[in-house]
Amino acid sequence: MYQMDTRLPADAVDFIDDTKLEAMVAGMHEDPEAVRRVIAKSLRKEALTVEETAILLGAESPDLVEEIFEAARTLKREVYGNRIVFFAPLYVGNYCTNDCKYCGFRRSMASTVRRTLSDEELVREVEALEDLGHKRLILVYGESPKYDPEFIAHTVRTVYATKKGHGEIRRVNINAAPLDEAGFRTVKQAGIGTYQIFQETYHKPTYAEWHPAGTMKANYLWRLNAFDRAFRAGIDDMGLGVLFGLYDWRFEVLAMVTHARYLQEKFGVGPHTLSFPRIKPAEGLNLNLQWQVTDEQYKRLVAILRLAVPYTGLIMTAREPAELRREVLAFGVSQIDAGTKLEIGGYQEARREGEQTLNREQFQVGDTRSLDEVIGEIVEGGYIPSFCTSCYRLGRTGEHFMEYAIPGFIGRFCTPNALVTFAEYLEDYASPATKAKGAALIARETEKLDPKLREEVLRRLQRVREGERDLHF
Ligand code: SAM
Ligand code: SF4
Repeated sequence: MYQMDTRLPADAVDFIDDTKLEAMVAGMHEDPEAVRRVIAKSLRKEALTVEETAILLGAESPDLVEEIFEAARTLKREVYGNRIVFFAPLYVGNYCTNDCKYCGFRRSMASTVRRTLSDEELVREVEALEDLGHKRLILVYGESPKYDPEFIAHTVRTVYATKKGHGEIRRVNINAAPLDEAGFRTVKQAGIGTYQIFQETYHKPTYAEWHPAGTMKANYLWRLNAFDRAFRAGIDDMGLGVLFGLYDWRFEVLAMVTHARYLQEKFGVGPHTLSFPRIKPAEGLNLNLQWQVTDEQYKRLVAILRLAVPYTGLIMTAREPAELRREVLAFGVSQIDAGTKLEIGGYQEARREGEQTLNREQFQVGDTRSLDEVIGEIVEGGYIPSFCTSCYRLGRTGEHFMEYAIPGFIGRFCTPNALVTFAEYLEDYASPATKAKGAALIARETEKLDPKLREEVLRRLQRVREGERDLHF
């Protein structure tokens, strides 16, 4: 059995000063002039300090909040353009030694059906996802000795090796319990993209309340230090996150920005993505929570995160309902999932549309529409769905990942890659209605490219129609 080295490195620091952040929340007040000054800095694409983020969090009056929303929309357009990258989560196994009180997989839930996908089942799940058109997955695991680094690496390799027709997974991210340095090295060698892990709550007393003592997850600092260990093991692509609803959302936003700045300063590389899931109904969970985040607060937190960390991708999951996702997309979300099934084996063993069985899943999904439906809708909204995985595969990650920093990068690489990968989707997987809408969008967007690039993109689109795949820039 794998023996995890659970000693913290000598330089492990608790860089979250609860008292300081609490004081900042308590001192929040509305200062329109300061808010506008901070917005202007953000629109210059400069990352905000924690103090500047607090100024934005102090805005309460609808007009001022609307100015923040509008700035987030502008920054989204300028930094990221109108692409939305699609991914799908794939639950590999739900055995868990932890007892996080919000999670349907926690060990004390006797009614939860426990399961780990066999290799064969994993292959079938991946094929089912490929049949929908997915190219990018995030594999999700409970925390269990069953899911040691070798097991995780093996599942990652299995996913990459699974191809069906034109279907293949070109980027595998993972969301797994924090590993030790050697463990991180093992999963890195298997070719993971992003290593994602959420601190859940940065507020220590709340963390202790939700994660019972005597479990691995109760160790706050082991989790907080996970990205430091990952960096040392050569992983420079990380996704951090908070489970919103456990504690004051404004405290959590300040803490996330603190974490992002800490990584940037210590390692020269900030997080690649931020996730901000809200807590959802789960088996055995009483959702009557003091800190539940309302839709209005949710919109504010996404917009403020956009402004605070202009060069970090924002991930919004299908936990959120369709209407809210529609609205929040414009605030700077760069990645979403669709057609998500949280039940282990759920992609191959399709239940009736919309039907969920909570004792098999981690929590309840808010947006149960299919990938094709969501794509059809976002195309109507003027976004380009993207299945691009190019930067990761060409080694453009970490400090070399200049996607957003190099002027014109989006125009030269991201938009063409989005158009070509979307064309692949339309050829291979789209419904006739989506195909028609999508083709019209590609034609419009191609027109906007400068002439030389347009010619090259048109050539590649033609090659896609003729059956070639994976023609990335
Ligand atoms: N077991 C690993 C861990 O906890 O880090 C990784 C996988 S866990 C299944 C992924 C994430 O799901 C957790 O980090 C948590 O934020 C989120 N989650 C758990 N219960 C949830 C709920 N009821 N609603 C929304 N998200 C939830
Ligand atoms: Fe286990 Fe993760 Fe669920 Fe906690 S959140 S009980 S660690 S699967």
